[in-house]
Amino acid sequence: MKHIFQISAGRLVLPLIAALLFSSQLRSQGGTPITKERIEQVLTDAYNKYKDIKEGKNADYIKELAQVDPNIFGIAVVTADGQVFTKGDVTSMVSIQSVSKVFTMAKVIEEQGWQAVMDKIGVDATGMRFNSIVAVEMQKGKEINPLVNPGAIASTSLISGADSAAKWKNIVQIQSDFAGRQLSLNVPVYISEAGDNLRNQAIAHLLYAYGRMYFDPVQSTDIYTKQCALNVNAKDLATMAATLANGGVNPITKKKVVSQTTVMYTLPVMATAGLYDNSGIWLYKTGLPAKSGVGGGLLAVFPGKFGIAVVSPPLDEAGNSVKAQYVIAYVIDQLKLDPYWIEPKK
Ligand code: GLU
Repeated sequence: MKHIFQISAGRLVLPLIAALLFSSQLRSQGGTPITKERIEQVLTDAYNKYKDIKEGKNADYIKELAQVDPNIFGIAVVTADGQVFTKGDVTSMVSIQSVSKVFTMAKVIEEQGWQAVMDKIGVDATGMRFNSIVAVEMQKGKEINPLVNPGAIASTSLISGADSAAKWKNIVQIQSDFAGRQLSLNVPVYISEAGDNLRNQAIAHLLYAYGRMYFDPVQSTDIYTKQCALNVNAKDLATMAATLANGGVNPITKKKVVSQTTVMYTLPVMATAGLYDNSGIWLYKTGLPAKSGVGGGLLAVFPGKFGIAVVSPPLDEAGNSVKAQYVIAYVIDQLKLDPYWIEPKK
């Protein structure tokens, strides 16, 4: 049998070189390579097509968010091999808000394993609003997920650290490792939300009553609120998405942030519950696991290929950035990329 495996070196070298050259190159449906120029062109077209639309409005239930410039509009793509493409304003910061939930969940999966997140929080869509108390009450604190507020506060409570300061340090670290730079707190946003946070406190206490909050509920809610107030720009968010797209290794810093297994269990929750009540519609249109936040950020992951993110504060009724949804769907469509496109075997 041994001879079957004795392929000559020459026959191996050429396919190997070809594989190395093209493995990281993006290809559209049908296999056509996508050039850098093409990506730049599509981002420019998307920017021009959507920059003047006036739909949506800033979140205002957190008072500080209503003050953010609604005209901030930035698009970024970071590929799994670390190429960066940007268009528009990718330096203005917004608070990360719910997008942060993904990375705290990933850290909990990394520390405690996927089974723990399923058992202690849940990984099902609630079918209700992100801050629904009814969703908690109906299932006695079960069958929620880490991307809605109850599950996100429970994730925060599960993060390693003996006290609140240690947990906060670990959260800032994981969010920063995904972004590839040290993220900092937007203090006015934190103060604004912390001063008006009774609903999230109520959610945390209800979970606590059901034995499904794993640290002090007041402190867990406070850490969660701070986590949501970390400042990011479109490039940060695209890098965070690209780290997931690259199997847990940040493609810019090259740091291994989480394991491939953690990524494997993180992306399905994003696909299930990443865009609030419109998660199904989003997945139907783009096929991409994604996460939005009420600060106006939205990131999406093409596994193995790239992360894409848009920052634009005006939101639709469901709480998702209007321009961000248009832009990402447009880019995916124009580049002819959909993870569910399948070439039948000849
Ligand atoms: N900090 C926000 C809240 O808990 C996050 C909401 C969001 O982005 O969905 O209400």
